[in-house]
Amino acid sequence: MSHLEVRDVVKRYGQLTVLSGVSFAAQRGEFVVMVGPSGCGKSTLLRSIAGLEEISSGSVSIAGHDITAAEPSDRGVAMVFQNYALYPHMTVAQNMGFALKVARRPRSEIDAAVTRAAEILRITDHLGKYPKALSGGQKQRVAIGRAITRAPEVFLFDEPLSNLDAALRSQMRIELSRLHRELGATMLYVTHDQTEAMTMADRIIVMNGGNIEQIGSPLDLYNRPATRFVAGFIGSPR
Ligand code: ADP
Ligand code: MG
Repeated sequence: MSHLEVRDVVKRYGQLTVLSGVSFAAQRGEFVVMVGPSGCGKSTLLRSIAGLEEISSGSVSIAGHDITAAEPSDRGVAMVFQNYALYPHMTVAQNMGFALKVARRPRSEIDAAVTRAAEILRITDHLGKYPKALSGGQKQRVAIGRAITRAPEVFLFDEPLSNLDAALRSQMRIELSRLHRELGATMLYVTHDQTEAMTMADRIIVMNGGNIEQIGSPLDLYNRPATRFVAGFIGSPR
């Protein structure tokens, strides 16, 4: 059984069809990277899976449960945004524990989850600080830590490293791959960075204009691009 299953997802904004019947499945523990030009619907698809958008038709299942109509907090997903979206008036620890607090988990459980996430991301020394005192890379670690404490079935990343400079990006790429291995988590990761796609992905989804052009391993897509568009985006020259 697939861990994440997206079936025939259509999303319209008025007359504009942004997703025109998107289907794919991810296995448990798989790192799936999604690429495609600006405006092709990548963020809309992630937001739809997270329940931040209501889809026009289609369905989404996680671990065999249909979550199409579930509240965002009940879906078993956690999303990490490009702009971090931290709460400025909360400390790092409070940011990371907030979702568990809202879910009325016991204090001891929240503290344990925050401590563990901070260790994994190496931000233990910053737990008492406010976001404004952190660098961009540290803020993004907190945003990722906030997702980890929720122990989601599926992590959704929307261009999480694109606001970081090149050196930090390559360091975070290595750390995210390590995180993926350590957690054994299912991840759907949107990026416009070809290096991220080629080095991090088990499989890559190439989107174009609200449709999936091709899904395959990085090598498959590089060596056997199905369309000229895929070849232009990540394939070898042909
Ligand atoms: P990507 O993340 O691939 O760059 P998006 O999913 O953000 O693309 O956007 C896909 C299309 O949907 C774009 O044409 C965008 O203008 C449109 N869109 C996104 N959100 C809305 C919205 N709330 N209302 C109307 N159109 C939207
Ligand atoms: Mg986007």
